[in-house]
Amino acid sequence: MRPTPALTSAAASALVVGVLAAAPPAPAQAPPAASTQTAQAAERPTAKIPTAVGTGGAVSTVDPEASAAALKVLKRGGNAADAAVAAAATLGVTEPYSAGLGGGGYFVFYDAESGKVSTIDGRETAPKKMPSDAFIDPATGKPYNFTPELVTSGVSVGTPGTPATWERALRKYGTLSLADALKPAIKVATRGFKVDETFRQQTLDNEERFRAFKATKKLFLPKGDAPAVGSIFTNPDLADTYTDLAARGMKAFYRGKLAKLMVDIVRDPRTTKSTDLPVPRGYLSRSDLRDYKVLGQAPTKISYRGYDVYGMAPSSSGGSTVGEALNILERTDFTGKAPEQVLHHYLEAGALAFADRAKYLGDPRFVDVPLPTLLSDKFAAERACSLDPAKAAVKPVAAGDAAAYDGVCPAPAAGGTTDADTENISTTNLTVADKWGNVVEYTLTIEQTGGSGMVVPRHGFILNNELTDFSTVFDPADPNRIQPGKRPRSSMSPTIVLKDGKPFLALGSPGGSTIITTVLQMLVNRIDLGMSIEQAIAAPRSSPRNTASVTSEPEFITAYGAALTALGHKLVPAGDAFTSAAQIGAATAIEFGPGGQLTAVSEPVRRGGGAARVVDPK
Ligand code: GLU
Repeated sequence: MRPTPALTSAAASALVVGVLAAAPPAPAQAPPAASTQTAQAAERPTAKIPTAVGTGGAVSTVDPEASAAALKVLKRGGNAADAAVAAAATLGVTEPYSAGLGGGGYFVFYDAESGKVSTIDGRETAPKKMPSDAFIDPATGKPYNFTPELVTSGVSVGTPGTPATWERALRKYGTLSLADALKPAIKVATRGFKVDETFRQQTLDNEERFRAFKATKKLFLPKGDAPAVGSIFTNPDLADTYTDLAARGMKAFYRGKLAKLMVDIVRDPRTTKSTDLPVPRGYLSRSDLRDYKVLGQAPTKISYRGYDVYGMAPSSSGGSTVGEALNILERTDFTGKAPEQVLHHYLEAGALAFADRAKYLGDPRFVDVPLPTLLSDKFAAERACSLDPAKAAVKPVAAGDAAAYDGVCPAPAAGGTTDADTENISTTNLTVADKWGNVVEYTLTIEQTGGSGMVVPRHGFILNNELTDFSTVFDPADPNRIQPGKRPRSSMSPTIVLKDGKPFLALGSPGGSTIITTVLQMLVNRIDLGMSIEQAIAAPRSSPRNTASVTSEPEFITAYGAALTALGHKLVPAGDAFTSAAQIGAATAIEFGPGGQLTAVSEPVRRGGGAARVVDPK
């Protein structure tokens, strides 16, 4: 079950030392069992525990309340799908700016009995009446600005898929009723949770647009200010909404009064008198909500150095882009290679795969996505031809030709174009395993932090602005162009890795298009660089997305900047040193060891750290 590090052990430990020195604080060791249990027993779980080792089931989320909810479900005999829905619903309370009823996501399930991986595509969907020029301001004939017009708008609200995802996940994989799965979240929404720095800061970051909507202002800026750190935040409206859905099922979300209310505010956003934010109207209709369907679909699958890597198929670009990059990397034997060489290959493979993502990826119900080609070794062999071990290619690199490839190196192609990247940094991810061996990897979102900014009055949740993930400039040749009823291309990359048919690792992250590189880099860290899973998640990140310069965490630049710059890479720091934007991703993962041992890991530092738990601590 354990990977064979491709590095010599001396090289691996040198790298790990480098990583630990470069990463903010060192990755925490597994905490003593006693402290884990004390945290679990607390009425309001607040302990951020990055690593938990044990057996009998495990969970990792960004939030102690959500992890406690999942753990409770697991302890009471629920399975991984039950616990994942309980955790996700709780994240709707404690991480309302990242996920909730008003959003969408992708749910990946490993079924221990059959040994099969299957997925649910719960992506938000464009209204049937959304015109191709929806992002053009009818008043001026010119494109809306991305900020503030598009992000804070009705026009970017897609039909939410999260409620239907929870219902489908419970019916297809779970054992609990919706009512039971929502119970922990209702409790947290009612009794409240402790506000932390991240919650307050995210509220402040959104202050101007939250003030623009009556319902949002009332909920998230009570007494005119963002909730204070340490105060208790309750959301009785959301508790009532969950209670109603628990009693009547998710049809009460997609039909009836709540559906009508959502349609009304999307079509005519209820702004406050004092705001001068322009808030374009949207196209959502009651029939969009009534007809929304999640899609059950096969995962993407590639093999990488003896592991089988399963990911999310389009409408997400996650599975294909991570898969293609791994296939390109697999062309090189990293035995004895210095970490910088491995990272050079990682940066180049990421750029090549992103070039193909831009050219080919969109909702396959609307555009022809050459998925088998993108995931094939032969295509990767051709793509890898342009990867020079001694020199970084000039970015952006050109896409490959998926229509004509034979695994033989083509003549070097002229430079490519960079895909305009408007994906925002938000979203949340969770990983759950149960005692039967089932595994869930689930990434869910409302798009950017704070979504559209619009709280549904009296219901306590925010509507997404996911349709900003469509290309903002309409080009009929672009696979991600706006089309009515289409799902915008996502980067969410919930990933499950099997070894000999059994789970080895499950992982995922938020972070817009950086999700893909975070997942890819963690896999390279773990499988190629011989890091432990704690080290692989803590290690500083760099996000190669086929742009002239590569956004990287400052610690990555400190550790590897000199060597990679010498190879021709241009690394630029993400954000600045004083904001969380300097961090890339907020991953969670579980690794499966011998004898049923589970190592659940979350971020030790990024976004304030996460919460890993196991049912029976070691
Ligand atoms: N909208 C993004 C996507 O679907 C996710 C947003 C984020 O992670 O910040 O890929």
